[in-house]
Amino acid sequence: QHLPPSNPASLSSSSLNLPSKTSIAASINHSPRPKERPSSTASSVSAASPSTRRSGTPVHRSQSKDFDEDNGISPSSLSPSCIIHPGRVRVSVRVRPRNGEELKSDADFADLVELQPEIKRLKLRKNNWNSESYRFDEVFTDTASQKRVYEGVAKPVVEGVLSGYNGTIMAYGQTGTGKTYTVGKIGKDDAAERGIMVRALEDILASASSASSVSVEISYLQLYMETIQDLLAPEKSNISINEDGKTGEVSVPGATLVNIQDLDHFFQVLQVGETNRHAANTKMNTESSRSHAILTVYVRRAMNEKAETGTKSPKPESLGDKGIPRVRKSKLLIVDLAGSERINKSGTDGHLIEEAKFINLSLTSLGKCINALAEGSSHIPTRDSKLTRLLRDSFGGSARTSLIITIGPSARYHAETTSTIMFGQRAMKIVNMVKLKE
Ligand code: ADP
Ligand code: MG
Repeated sequence: QHLPPSNPASLSSSSLNLPSKTSIAASINHSPRPKERPSSTASSVSAASPSTRRSGTPVHRSQSKDFDEDNGISPSSLSPSCIIHPGRVRVSVRVRPRNGEELKSDADFADLVELQPEIKRLKLRKNNWNSESYRFDEVFTDTASQKRVYEGVAKPVVEGVLSGYNGTIMAYGQTGTGKTYTVGKIGKDDAAERGIMVRALEDILASASSASSVSVEISYLQLYMETIQDLLAPEKSNISINEDGKTGEVSVPGATLVNIQDLDHFFQVLQVGETNRHAANTKMNTESSRSHAILTVYVRRAMNEKAETGTKSPKPESLGDKGIPRVRKSKLLIVDLAGSERINKSGTDGHLIEEAKFINLSLTSLGKCINALAEGSSHIPTRDSKLTRLLRDSFGGSARTSLIITIGPSARYHAETTSTIMFGQRAMKIVNMVKLKE
């Protein structure tokens, strides 16, 4: 089960287990973080743009220099507002920078949405007279760096995983708004560009390298029309989800697991996954935006006696009945969701309509689970789709969940942007509810 792909002919098999020559220690900079500039600074110093008519944050400035090269992360650098308490969903919103065409067009985004990162609010215009203000855990403008997004969205979940809690990070939004850039950007040669998957692995591997008893394995799956495909072994079929009746643990026994040695190795594996995803989608005549990509990182830590010395516990909990070291397992799911846009059925061919039905099914079912969590319901309806079945043990309960919604910077995406923001707001309710109880 924990072996590399068995078929040597597959694209993946040949390259996955190449031992990498670069050690992870060499690629991670452990220097202390320079002082973070608050996002408000970035906004207030930027030149006013023509779209700032309604005041607030302009959204199509040129990329600012708030990228920084520092990738060293120490757990203590987390600000208290970044902590996710189990059972809550952290919800952030990010707007993509304008592309060339949007810069030329006069569809003015600021007429529709105003981002207020300093107060973590987003103002959405409802009609000619009214706008409504929505709170998020983080609001990222088009100049927010990948590093800042990682720290605000993913780091608390990754730290939970390193402490033994399962976690999920998801990107939700219309196609073309930056989901893949945010979570899946590889950025092998440009560290500033790296997305959440790579940065999460950097942190997890850094933690693993300081303890020989930690193992890091990944699987990389695509979920298309309720079928699970293994992006690391495309020849595999009939991959099914297993749920342990007793522990509730979800597993995908057929999925290829690759033990990741260092970041270079991860780059190779991710690249293989991307290539296979592209090939599979070409073969099925579809776009990658029509499927969900799911990276699962399994972290196992052998808890030995030594590690427990000095703790107050009289009998180390980590030891099994016979004094055999126990293993603490946790996993992190990073999900690049299918595009949330609704397909206009008129004039659309049958295959696209079928695809759309499945995307609808899974995103609607995800929305229902989020709503159930928001209402504090003890029953989270995860059975309706494979997406939510996969998420079942990494969502709610003691698990930590972070959702980033992405929007496009033009008023021409009015309907989709509004619907994306509403999806994010329903997830925010969870936070609000708990806040009220405090
Ligand atoms: P999605 O996955 O939601 O369909 P992509 O991540 O593919 O969207 O983004 C669409 C395009 O916009 C890509 O060319 C991507 O590189 C670019 N892009 C998205 N977000 C950013 C960003 N924050 N900075 C720079 N380029 C971005
Ligand atoms: Mg994408």
